[in-house]
Amino acid sequence: MHLDLTERVALITGGNRGIGRAIASTLAAAGAAVVINYRSNHEMAEQTLQAIANSGACAVAIQADVSEASAVQQLVQATLDRFARIDILVNNAGITRDGLLMRMEEADFDAVVQTNLRSVYLCTRAVSRSMIRQRSGRIINITSVVGIAGNAGQSNYAAAKSGIIGFSRATARELASRQITVNAVAPGFIETDLTAAMPADRRQAALENIPLGRAGQPQDVAHLVCFLASDAAAYITGQVFTVDGGMVMH
Ligand code: NAP
Repeated sequence: MHLDLTERVALITGGNRGIGRAIASTLAAAGAAVVINYRSNHEMAEQTLQAIANSGACAVAIQADVSEASAVQQLVQATLDRFARIDILVNNAGITRDGLLMRMEEADFDAVVQTNLRSVYLCTRAVSRSMIRQRSGRIINITSVVGIAGNAGQSNYAAAKSGIIGFSRATARELASRQITVNAVAPGFIETDLTAAMPADRRQAALENIPLGRAGQPQDVAHLVCFLASDAAAYITGQVFTVDGGMVMH
């Protein structure tokens, strides 16, 4: 199966590094023009941009904090000014602020919910207007197996990631009549800066829990996202797909 995204425009939040970078590169390799959003790591954005440009694809990087409504408006407007359309939105930006419930600060709960969940609402709302006009679109939300199974020490993250699943299903129903699909992808343990920051004992415990016997790579997630963004996935909406080496089976 050849996945062709020629003449599609994709906006990837948190597209400068980790899973978002792999998604941006994979969609670009399939022919899409890509907008790489990032919050603060300008250097990584430049590197990702350069790598994609070197492969001959079209990419631009736009800084915006996607937890803020006005920044999201500007991000989407800048994308539309540049490309006149948005066909694919990948809501990938995310953070963790782990801690057991009794010690979890309100600021850490709020920051995780705002960055992981509120951003999905803001970006989906901002992008769906032009997708509705186009009568087509693909929205792919990056959740987590933690949003399905829970995880001690991550109640904020689990709440946000579960929220993304409910939000994806509700918006899938709202937007289906306009041929816009909304799906969620739930990675397990993927090697990125996010998991590199985990304490060694938690890392080891996570690895021992993976039937396929290895950590995932960002590319493992990007391949599924590319499929969901393509015409081949036109009849799939409102679903949650795990990419986790078998960690969570349900
Ligand atoms: P990562 O390497 O830590 O990268 C996080 C990305 O999110 C960066 O591009 C960062 O931009 C961006 N970001 C954070 N806050 C933002 C904001 N307010 N506005 C715009 N961009 C923001 O993380 P990752 O591992 O690639 O994770 C990507 C997604 O997959 C996240 O949603 C994460 O929850 C999810 N996930 C990851 C795993 C895993 O094992 N790695 C598992 C399940 C789910 P800057 O570089 O500018 O800070």
